[in-house]
Amino acid sequence: MDNEIKKENERPKKRGRKRYVLITYVFFGLFMLLLARLLFFTGIESEDFINSSYNPRLTKLSETVERGKIKTADGVVVSETIKNDDGSETRNYPYGPMYAHSVGYSVNGSLGAEKDFNFQMMRSHLFFIKRIYLELSGKKLPGDNLILTLDSRLQEAAYYGMGDYDGAVIALEPDTGKVLCMVSKPDFDPNTIAQDWDSIVSDSSSSVLLNRTTQGLYPPGSVAKIVTALEMMEEGKADTFLYECEGEEERDGYTIHCYRSTAHGTVDFAAAFADSCNVAFGNMGLMIDKNRFNLLSERLLFNRKLPTSFSNTVKSSIGMNADDSEALIMQTAIGQGKTLVTPMHMAMISSAVANEGVVKEPYISDSIENADGGLVRTYKGKTYGSIMTKDEAEKMKELMRLVITDGTGQGLISDDYTAYGKTGTAEYTDDKQSTHSWFTGFAEKDGKKIAVAVIMEGAGTASAHAVPLTKSLFDTYFQNE
Ligand SMILES: [Zn+2]
Repeated sequence: MDNEIKKENERPKKRGRKRYVLITYVFFGLFMLLLARLLFFTGIESEDFINSSYNPRLTKLSETVERGKIKTADGVVVSETIKNDDGSETRNYPYGPMYAHSVGYSVNGSLGAEKDFNFQMMRSHLFFIKRIYLELSGKKLPGDNLILTLDSRLQEAAYYGMGDYDGAVIALEPDTGKVLCMVSKPDFDPNTIAQDWDSIVSDSSSSVLLNRTTQGLYPPGSVAKIVTALEMMEEGKADTFLYECEGEEERDGYTIHCYRSTAHGTVDFAAAFADSCNVAFGNMGLMIDKNRFNLLSERLLFNRKLPTSFSNTVKSSIGMNADDSEALIMQTAIGQGKTLVTPMHMAMISSAVANEGVVKEPYISDSIENADGGLVRTYKGKTYGSIMTKDEAEKMKELMRLVITDGTGQGLISDDYTAYGKTGTAEYTDDKQSTHSWFTGFAEKDGKKIAVAVIMEGAGTASAHAVPLTKSLFDTYFQNE
């Protein structure tokens, strides 16, 4: 090779050839300048650094790149930039409040995916020839699109299923951690967030900007019996448990009662779980080791930051102290007392039961594509690890199945899939009259799975509200394409 080059250089140079070489160099130089300019705008700096809304680089990018779209996993556009006649741009949310907390907004600050994937939508990975053409014609580059893990059919079913109730619905794909739907109410319309801003921030009681799936802390009521039941299993006390429920029982000046104080009669461990017997579970609380219960709770992700890709999660709290009264211990064992949980956390526990005890970290970004639909990158869920053994998950699954076949979750019986879960009717006022309607669980069919947590604030019983809503989610998810 060296010899050949040498030979070529020694050849006498002709005039025409010289001009040709010069033109080539000029074009090559211009090309390199354009390439450098494109690179400068499309990704030399780290995403973490540049993704801050305070970064002036983003302001600069917005002058040259038109913010990309946000789509659901099934291709529905849920956020897009529209160019107005006067040349200004408007961020449009075709579904209004339906995706308020998951997609968020990008005016008056930002929230949700609009915030977390701000930078990704301000870059353009369009084929470079197209980029150069647009650059040369002084046009804005179309930014990359963010594809979410959300399923628009589930999001719609969850949103309308909530009706006028406040609360939260979250669904996860257990073996990946993909968030399939995420609804929080009360909501807001991201299209009019700028106009509505003053009234939204001044109304501290409604806290509409709060994403109740990750930031809402609720008394779990009977869905927390999953924790107590696991502890009973771990201590080897489940198999021999038997209790006579008379509908209510007084301990330490406190009366624990079952739903409508109806006596469940003699219940074993499985029947107590399926029928959600508070008296039996309150007494299990008195039987178990407090320290071990606390250690199990830690393992089940209580009292700590949840392993998710969401930055705005709050910690659930549960615990039994040495000096707790019997009354408080019994309340803790049935998910009352001081216990507070987020719907996301409950969905993660159900997810782990569905996934042989293994938690996959929930995430909402599926992939990034360029404006022509070409794949730029995909996101993968991280594995957090096991929060219960495979054997425990299997036993818990049997209990959660019994809730559907013989217990309080019979509204979820279906020929199309197999459902599992735990209902909850959580008291949140001192007079015990007002209750939140809870359900957490999962369903499967031919290896396809979905885990959920549903809470409808002040709605009453689980069977009348959270269970039917969950049924509509499961029906939607497993319906024939
Ligand atoms: Zn009972």
